[in-house]
Amino acid sequence: MVKNTLLHVWPIPAFEDNYIWCIHDGDCALVVDPGDASPVLRYLEQEKLTLTGILITHHHADHTGGILQLLKSLGSSIPVYGPIGNNIPGRTQVAIEGDKFEISAPRISFEVHEVPGHTLSHIAYFANMQANVVEPMLFCGDTLFASGCGRLFEGTPTQMSQSLAKFIALPKNTLVYCTHEYTLSNIRFALAVEPNNANLITWAQTAKALRAQNLPTLPTTIGQELQVNPFMRCDQKEVIESALEVSGEKSLPSPAHVLAVIRAWKDRF
Ligand code: ZN
Ligand code: FE
Repeated sequence: MVKNTLLHVWPIPAFEDNYIWCIHDGDCALVVDPGDASPVLRYLEQEKLTLTGILITHHHADHTGGILQLLKSLGSSIPVYGPIGNNIPGRTQVAIEGDKFEISAPRISFEVHEVPGHTLSHIAYFANMQANVVEPMLFCGDTLFASGCGRLFEGTPTQMSQSLAKFIALPKNTLVYCTHEYTLSNIRFALAVEPNNANLITWAQTAKALRAQNLPTLPTTIGQELQVNPFMRCDQKEVIESALEVSGEKSLPSPAHVLAVIRAWKDRF
Protein backbone atom coordinates (compact mmCIF):
# COMPACT_ATOMS: atom_id res chain seq x y z
CA MET A 1 0.00 0.00 0.00
CA VAL A 2 1.30 3.43 -0.90
CA LYS A 3 1.45 5.69 2.11
CA ASN A 4 0.06 9.16 1.86
CA THR A 5 2.89 11.53 2.71
CA LEU A 6 0.54 14.51 3.00
CA LEU A 7 -0.59 15.45 6.45
CA HIS A 8 -4.21 15.36 7.47
CA VAL A 9 -5.61 17.73 10.06
CA TRP A 10 -8.88 16.57 11.56
CA PRO A 11 -11.13 18.24 14.14
CA ILE A 12 -12.12 15.89 16.96
CA PRO A 13 -15.15 17.52 18.61
CA ALA A 14 -15.14 17.70 22.42
CA PHE A 15 -17.46 19.15 25.05
CA GLU A 16 -19.96 21.71 23.69
CA ASP A 17 -17.85 23.53 21.13
CA ASN A 18 -14.16 22.55 21.42
CA TYR A 19 -12.11 21.09 18.59
CA ILE A 20 -9.12 18.91 19.42
CA TRP A 21 -7.09 19.05 16.20
CA CYS A 22 -5.39 15.82 15.18
CA ILE A 23 -2.45 16.10 12.76
CA HIS A 24 -1.59 12.76 11.20
CA ASP A 25 0.07 11.00 8.27
CA GLY A 26 -2.15 7.93 8.26
CA ASP A 27 0.04 6.19 10.87
CA CYS A 28 1.27 8.61 13.49
CA ALA A 29 -0.65 11.44 15.08
CA LEU A 30 -0.28 14.56 17.17
CA VAL A 31 -3.14 16.15 19.04
CA VAL A 32 -3.47 19.77 20.01
CA ASP A 33 -5.14 20.73 23.31
CA PRO A 34 -6.82 17.47 24.32
CA GLY A 35 -9.24 18.74 26.95
CA ASP A 36 -10.89 15.33 27.02
CA ALA A 37 -9.18 11.97 26.40
CA SER A 38 -12.12 9.78 25.39
CA PRO A 39 -13.00 11.34 22.00
CA VAL A 40 -9.27 11.31 21.14
CA LEU A 41 -8.87 7.65 22.12
CA ARG A 42 -11.94 6.75 20.07
CA TYR A 43 -10.67 8.62 17.00
CA LEU A 44 -7.15 7.15 17.21
CA GLU A 45 -8.55 3.65 17.50
CA GLN A 46 -11.03 4.13 14.68
CA GLU A 47 -8.33 5.50 12.34
CA LYS A 48 -5.64 3.07 13.64
CA LEU A 49 -3.28 5.89 14.55
CA THR A 50 -0.41 5.94 17.05
CA LEU A 51 -0.18 9.04 19.20
CA THR A 52 3.38 10.42 19.05
CA GLY A 53 2.97 13.82 20.68
CA ILE A 54 0.70 16.30 22.42
CA LEU A 55 0.81 20.07 21.84
CA ILE A 56 -0.68 22.38 24.45
CA THR A 57 -1.38 26.08 23.90
CA HIS A 58 -2.47 27.14 27.40
CA HIS A 59 -3.41 25.81 30.81
CA HIS A 60 -7.24 25.95 30.75
CA ALA A 61 -8.88 22.64 31.64
CA ASP A 62 -10.81 22.38 28.36
CA HIS A 63 -7.38 22.21 26.64
CA THR A 64 -5.40 20.11 29.13
CA GLY A 65 -7.94 17.90 30.96
CA GLY A 66 -7.25 14.80 28.85
CA ILE A 67 -3.44 14.79 28.92
CA LEU A 68 -2.86 12.47 31.87
CA GLN A 69 -5.49 9.96 30.73
CA LEU A 70 -3.94 9.86 27.24
CA LEU A 71 -0.49 9.22 28.73
CA LYS A 72 -1.93 6.55 31.02
CA SER A 73 -3.74 4.81 28.16
CA LEU A 74 -1.15 5.20 25.40
CA GLY A 75 2.26 5.42 27.06
CA SER A 76 3.92 7.79 29.47
CA SER A 77 6.86 8.45 27.12
CA ILE A 78 4.76 10.51 24.68
CA PRO A 79 6.21 14.06 24.61
CA VAL A 80 3.92 16.85 25.80
CA TYR A 81 4.85 20.33 24.58
CA GLY A 82 3.44 23.32 26.40
CA PRO A 83 4.02 26.85 27.64
CA ILE A 84 5.94 27.78 30.76
CA GLY A 85 4.13 27.58 34.12
CA ASN A 86 3.28 24.90 36.65
CA ASN A 87 -0.22 24.24 35.48
CA ILE A 88 0.24 21.91 32.48
CA PRO A 89 -0.05 18.34 33.84
CA GLY A 90 2.32 15.88 32.15
CA ARG A 91 4.25 18.51 30.19
CA THR A 92 7.69 17.24 29.20
CA GLN A 93 8.94 20.12 27.01
CA VAL A 94 8.61 23.81 27.77
CA ALA A 95 8.13 25.80 24.57
CA ILE A 96 9.01 29.51 24.47
CA GLU A 97 9.11 32.26 21.82
CA GLY A 98 11.28 31.35 18.86
CA ASP A 99 11.66 27.67 19.73
CA LYS A 100 11.72 25.39 16.74
CA PHE A 101 11.15 21.72 17.12
CA GLU A 102 10.99 18.90 14.64
CA ILE A 103 8.77 15.89 14.97
CA SER A 104 9.73 12.89 12.87
CA ALA A 105 6.38 11.08 12.71
CA PRO A 106 4.20 12.65 11.48
CA ARG A 107 7.00 14.66 9.87
CA ILE A 108 6.43 18.29 10.75
CA SER A 109 8.29 21.10 12.43
CA PHE A 110 6.87 23.93 14.48
CA GLU A 111 7.92 27.40 15.42
CA VAL A 112 6.60 28.71 18.74
CA HIS A 113 5.07 32.14 19.20
CA GLU A 114 4.24 33.49 22.64
CA VAL A 115 0.83 35.12 22.41
CA PRO A 116 -0.26 36.39 25.85
CA GLY A 117 -3.71 37.87 26.31
CA HIS A 118 -6.28 35.12 26.91
CA THR A 119 -3.81 33.70 29.44
CA LEU A 120 -0.32 35.02 30.20
CA SER A 121 1.65 31.96 29.12
CA HIS A 122 -0.33 31.23 25.97
CA ILE A 123 1.62 29.95 22.96
CA ALA A 124 0.79 29.20 19.32
CA TYR A 125 2.40 26.63 17.01
CA PHE A 126 3.23 27.62 13.45
CA ALA A 127 4.24 25.12 10.75
CA ASN A 128 5.64 26.34 7.46
CA MET A 129 7.96 25.50 4.58
CA GLN A 130 7.86 21.75 4.54
CA ALA A 131 7.43 19.44 1.58
CA ASN A 132 4.40 17.79 3.15
CA VAL A 133 2.79 20.98 4.43
CA VAL A 134 1.17 22.57 1.42
CA GLU A 135 -0.09 25.66 3.22
CA PRO A 136 1.38 27.07 6.41
CA MET A 137 -0.61 26.09 9.50
CA LEU A 138 -1.21 27.86 12.79
CA PHE A 139 -2.55 26.24 15.95
CA CYS A 140 -3.52 29.26 17.96
CA GLY A 141 -5.54 27.90 20.91
CA ASP A 142 -7.91 30.50 22.36
CA THR A 143 -6.00 33.55 21.09
CA LEU A 144 -7.68 33.94 17.72
CA PHE A 145 -11.08 32.63 16.67
CA ALA A 146 -12.83 32.85 13.33
CA SER A 147 -14.18 36.43 13.38
CA GLY A 148 -13.21 36.91 17.03
CA CYS A 149 -10.53 36.61 19.69
CA GLY A 150 -10.19 35.05 23.13
CA ARG A 151 -11.43 36.70 26.28
CA LEU A 152 -8.75 38.51 28.30
CA PHE A 153 -8.67 36.38 31.45
CA GLU A 154 -5.06 37.11 32.39
CA GLY A 155 -3.51 39.48 29.88
CA THR A 156 -4.07 43.09 28.86
CA PRO A 157 -5.52 44.54 25.66
CA THR A 158 -2.00 45.69 24.74
CA GLN A 159 -0.67 42.15 25.09
CA MET A 160 -3.52 40.74 22.99
CA SER A 161 -2.98 43.43 20.38
CA GLN A 162 0.74 42.52 20.17
CA SER A 163 -0.12 38.82 19.98
CA LEU A 164 -2.59 39.39 17.14
CA ALA A 165 0.04 41.54 15.39
CA LYS A 166 2.27 38.43 15.28
CA PHE A 167 -0.54 36.60 13.48
CA ILE A 168 -1.16 39.54 11.13
CA ALA A 169 2.49 39.22 10.05
CA LEU A 170 2.10 35.55 9.02
CA PRO A 171 1.52 34.57 5.38
CA LYS A 172 -2.07 35.28 4.33
CA ASN A 173 -2.63 31.70 3.19
CA THR A 174 -1.83 30.34 6.67
CA LEU A 175 -4.57 27.93 7.74
CA VAL A 176 -5.71 28.84 11.23
CA TYR A 177 -6.89 26.01 13.48
CA CYS A 178 -8.80 27.60 16.35
CA THR A 179 -9.97 25.51 19.28
CA HIS A 180 -13.62 26.56 19.55
CA GLU A 181 -16.61 26.73 17.24
CA TYR A 182 -17.61 30.27 18.24
CA THR A 183 -17.92 31.58 14.70
CA LEU A 184 -21.64 32.39 14.44
CA SER A 185 -21.78 34.34 17.70
CA ASN A 186 -18.51 36.09 16.79
CA ILE A 187 -20.03 37.09 13.44
CA ARG A 188 -23.09 38.59 15.18
CA PHE A 189 -20.77 40.83 17.16
CA ALA A 190 -18.50 41.59 14.18
CA LEU A 191 -21.56 42.79 12.26
CA ALA A 192 -22.40 45.17 15.11
CA VAL A 193 -18.88 46.63 14.80
CA GLU A 194 -18.81 46.71 10.99
CA PRO A 195 -22.36 46.55 9.61
CA ASN A 196 -21.15 47.61 6.14
CA ASN A 197 -18.29 45.13 5.73
CA ALA A 198 -19.29 43.31 2.53
CA ASN A 199 -16.84 40.43 3.09
CA LEU A 200 -18.28 39.93 6.55
CA ILE A 201 -21.85 39.90 5.24
CA THR A 202 -20.93 37.21 2.69
CA TRP A 203 -19.01 35.22 5.30
CA ALA A 204 -22.03 35.32 7.64
CA GLN A 205 -24.10 33.48 4.99
CA THR A 206 -21.36 30.92 4.32
CA ALA A 207 -20.80 30.23 8.01
CA LYS A 208 -24.53 29.86 8.68
CA ALA A 209 -24.83 27.34 5.84
CA LEU A 210 -21.87 25.33 7.19
CA ARG A 211 -23.32 25.21 10.70
CA ALA A 212 -26.76 24.28 9.36
CA GLN A 213 -25.07 21.13 8.01
CA ASN A 214 -23.22 20.70 11.30
CA LEU A 215 -19.88 21.30 9.53
CA PRO A 216 -16.98 23.18 11.16
CA THR A 217 -16.38 26.76 10.03
CA LEU A 218 -12.66 26.07 10.50
CA PRO A 219 -9.88 26.24 9.60
CA THR A 220 -9.95 29.88 8.68
CA THR A 221 -6.98 31.74 7.14
CA ILE A 222 -5.02 34.83 8.17
CA GLY A 223 -6.12 36.51 4.91
CA GLN A 224 -9.78 35.82 5.68
CA GLU A 225 -9.49 37.12 9.26
CA LEU A 226 -7.87 40.32 7.97
CA GLN A 227 -11.09 40.84 5.98
CA VAL A 228 -13.74 39.98 8.59
CA ASN A 229 -12.35 39.89 12.13
CA PRO A 230 -12.74 43.22 13.99
CA PHE A 231 -9.96 42.28 16.42
CA MET A 232 -7.56 41.91 13.47
CA ARG A 233 -8.89 45.17 11.98
CA CYS A 234 -8.32 47.64 14.83
CA ASP A 235 -6.60 50.00 12.35
CA GLN A 236 -9.62 50.13 10.01
CA LYS A 237 -11.83 53.20 9.76
CA GLU A 238 -15.20 51.57 10.46
CA VAL A 239 -13.84 49.62 13.44
CA ILE A 240 -12.23 52.75 14.91
CA GLU A 241 -15.43 54.76 14.38
CA SER A 242 -17.57 52.13 16.13
CA ALA A 243 -15.09 51.98 19.02
CA LEU A 244 -15.14 55.79 19.36
CA GLU A 245 -18.93 55.81 19.39
CA VAL A 246 -19.28 52.99 21.93
CA SER A 247 -16.62 54.39 24.28
CA GLY A 248 -17.56 58.06 23.95
CA GLU A 249 -13.83 58.83 23.61
CA LYS A 250 -12.62 61.65 21.35
CA SER A 251 -9.66 59.62 20.13
CA LEU A 252 -8.24 56.13 20.46
CA PRO A 253 -4.55 56.59 19.76
CA SER A 254 -3.55 53.02 18.89
CA PRO A 255 -4.96 49.68 17.67
CA ALA A 256 -4.50 48.42 21.25
CA HIS A 257 -6.86 51.15 22.52
CA VAL A 258 -9.40 50.17 19.87
CA LEU A 259 -9.03 46.53 20.83
CA ALA A 260 -9.54 47.39 24.52
CA VAL A 261 -12.86 49.05 23.67
CA ILE A 262 -14.23 46.38 21.36
CA ARG A 263 -13.08 43.50 23.59
CA ALA A 264 -14.93 45.06 26.57
CA TRP A 265 -17.95 45.67 24.30
CA LYS A 266 -17.93 42.02 23.19
CA ASP A 267 -17.77 40.88 26.83
CA ARG A 268 -21.16 42.48 27.49
CA PHE A 269 -22.65 41.95 24.01
ZN1 ZN B 1 -8.96 29.01 27.21
FE1 FE C 1 -10.88 27.10 25.54
